[in-house]
Amino acid sequence: MIIRPKVRGFICITAHPDGCKKNILEQISYVKTQGEIINSPKKVLIIGSSTGYGLASRVVASFGCKADTIGIYFERPEVDNKPGSAGFYNAQALDEFSREEGRLSESINGDAFSDEIKGEAIRYIREKLGQIDCIIYSLASPRRTDPISGKTYKSVLKPIGVSFSGKTVNTDTEQIVEIFIDPATEEEIEATCKVMGGEDWERWIDQLLGANVLAEGVQTCAYSYIGPEVTWPIYAHGTIGKAKDHLEQSAKNIQNKLKKLQGKAMISVNKAVVTQASSAIPVVPLYNSILFKIMKQKKIHEGCIEQMYRLFSSHFDANCDEQGRIHLDNLEMRDDVQQEVKAIWPKISTENLHELSDFQGYYQDFLRLFGFGVAGVNYEKDIKIS
Ligand code: NAD
Repeated sequence: MIIRPKVRGFICITAHPDGCKKNILEQISYVKTQGEIINSPKKVLIIGSSTGYGLASRVVASFGCKADTIGIYFERPEVDNKPGSAGFYNAQALDEFSREEGRLSESINGDAFSDEIKGEAIRYIREKLGQIDCIIYSLASPRRTDPISGKTYKSVLKPIGVSFSGKTVNTDTEQIVEIFIDPATEEEIEATCKVMGGEDWERWIDQLLGANVLAEGVQTCAYSYIGPEVTWPIYAHGTIGKAKDHLEQSAKNIQNKLKKLQGKAMISVNKAVVTQASSAIPVVPLYNSILFKIMKQKKIHEGCIEQMYRLFSSHFDANCDEQGRIHLDNLEMRDDVQQEVKAIWPKISTENLHELSDFQGYYQDFLRLFGFGVAGVNYEKDIKIS
């Protein structure tokens, strides 16, 4: 089968196995060029490990720290002659390359929010690793079923208290359009915290602690975003921002629970990058297109893999603020960078989109998430799908 991109708004419903594999090889090659990270974790569980920041964390853990890894993700395998999702191919490729280098690399494809998958992960850890010394929590999901109540919550990307109207880019038509979003209801705010807050992270840690599979000095880290003013109504001050506040509170709760093991729970505030999750957030694709142009001009542009290499090689201790949060967003948030974003924002229009922003680079990154537009891949090749 010849696989072509089929883009539907902020998602591409097809993925190319060879392109995904090549993406993984490029991330591995970047990490190897940077060099081995000494005094690093050696047995790592990554929850949300198949795409974006979680995938890059796993590549760095396996190839930078030379750690054994267990990855948890929720991806669509190949069925009925249809290609699988990008994350499915990414995870397959990562397991293959890690094992080739003699590392243990196990993957569990299932709902990380469920107790069944937590139990399965614990069994794997007991059997294959004994104990783990690092847990990365990198889930981004539109819904979560609470394992206690059985209720399913859906997250929303909405402002709180006031309506939002502002610019965004329609990535299909390349037009700058005005969007209007009503404020979230109390129920929607609560649901978003249930999905994207820290309740499930805490549940993972409780169950791992209860099973005695966490090593002395264990570290756990979850990811957050703050960003600049143009994104605040929809991000930091919106429903997702509320969920991130909840995640930060969970980090404090987990920190207390890990005291007996001399462990540490951290939040890393990462840079805005193109991922499946961030493509779905209104305003963010336009902000990223502008940001990338500026950061590339200043030669400080980074993607997931550069960010995660910085995280692990700083031993989870980069640019910490008063609240103890790690800041990998320091280059994005530099004054000179944000002043330029601010100057471009009111001027950008459909007519000057390509001149004032790196929309092309943004869109290339977007297609690459699904294994398309990757140099050296033969897209005319007949791909065998099982
Ligand atoms: P992503 O969409 O690329 O990855 C999400 C991962 O979660 C995938 O591996 C997916 O399989 C997994 N997943 C989703 N639902 C699952 C479930 N029920 N069970 C198991 N696995 C599941 O997202 P991302 O952008 O890398 O986001 C990861 C974290 O990083 C999030 O907390 C996000 O807020 C944060 N972050 C992202 C950005 C950004 O610009 N993308 C910036 C800063 C922080």
